[in-house]
Amino acid sequence: MVKALVVEKDEESGKTRAAVKEIGLEDLPEGEVTVAVEYSTLNYKDGLCIGPGGGLVRKYPHVPGIDFAGTVESSDDDRYAPGDKVVLTGWRVGEAHWGGYATRARVKADWLVPLPDGLTTRQAMAVGTAGFTAMLAVMALEDHGVTPGEHPVLVTGASGGVGSVATAILANLGHKVACVTGRPESADYLKSLGATEIVPREELAETTKRPLESERWSGCVDAVGGPMLARVLGQICYGGSVAAVGLAGGADLPAKVIPFLLRGVNLLGIDSVMQPYDNRLRAWQRIAKDLPMEKLDAMVEPATLEDLPKLGADILKGQVRGRVVVNVA
Ligand code: NDP
Repeated sequence: MVKALVVEKDEESGKTRAAVKEIGLEDLPEGEVTVAVEYSTLNYKDGLCIGPGGGLVRKYPHVPGIDFAGTVESSDDDRYAPGDKVVLTGWRVGEAHWGGYATRARVKADWLVPLPDGLTTRQAMAVGTAGFTAMLAVMALEDHGVTPGEHPVLVTGASGGVGSVATAILANLGHKVACVTGRPESADYLKSLGATEIVPREELAETTKRPLESERWSGCVDAVGGPMLARVLGQICYGGSVAAVGLAGGADLPAKVIPFLLRGVNLLGIDSVMQPYDNRLRAWQRIAKDLPMEKLDAMVEPATLEDLPKLGADILKGQVRGRVVVNVA
């Protein structure tokens, strides 16, 4: 039997309900590789898929969990054999395909990545989709010439999963890191991850008519989007870049093009879901090398499948700090 968090939908009321249940191995979707899941995690999208669906879930009943790490149990694909340790993020697993909130997951071999050397399955999920995406954002900034120097890199939504991991990686690479947070009580936590400056959310929440302000940030990892991203674009140093990762503050971008034209600012889109395999390997290798594991440990809140309905609602309200690691086994 497989223990899983199953979300069901009442077709009449349209309401969803998540509960831990036992299902059969034969109920799992088709795929070449069956993985004994050890750890999964909680991301913003998981909050949507555990709860209202957010237009992401195709059909019910559904097993959410957009990422997992574990051990291959059986494989019809030559690339994987029983006993191999693997990680999965993206490919709409946990949304369109059943995901990692179950003791077994069956997936396409193409979606898996071998567990990187130097990481345990628990550490890989402490990183999870949020941390993997933070690394992609840092790599994009580097590819566009953002190097450690006088001006800090700004991280928005800093207490969240993407923000926490981005802060720890950037600080470890020698950047000054300015963290935007709406939670003043997170200041010590963010400094422990390497933040050199805390920027209250209100400071960047106000809109301004000025398309350019003083040059403050060499780059930015942005998990918030919306009016804050528009404001930040006008504060980026000449030739700097913003990696747009998320939309915790809204999907609209009420911005002017002036920072692009007069300061050569770059707005870089970051997608973790459909990343090609080679770049996935590169990002995981960089995580193993550039993310200090003691800082990763400080971000982790442990959880079980039973905790997820409440935690899923919390993350949608912006009330989860750092990374939730779900011990599935
Ligand atoms: P979290 O909920 O863990 O973090 C988001 C953080 O944003 C919060 O902790 C909070 O930080 C801040 N925040 C929340 N609401 C607001 C608001 N209204 N205005 C300003 N700041 C706000 O989510 P994740 O870190 O997992 O994900 C962050 C974003 O990135 C999400 O939108 C997610 O969908 C997206 N994402 C995108 C991926 C991609 O492939 N592009 C992959 C993974 C995530 P604080 O309290 O410190 O202010």
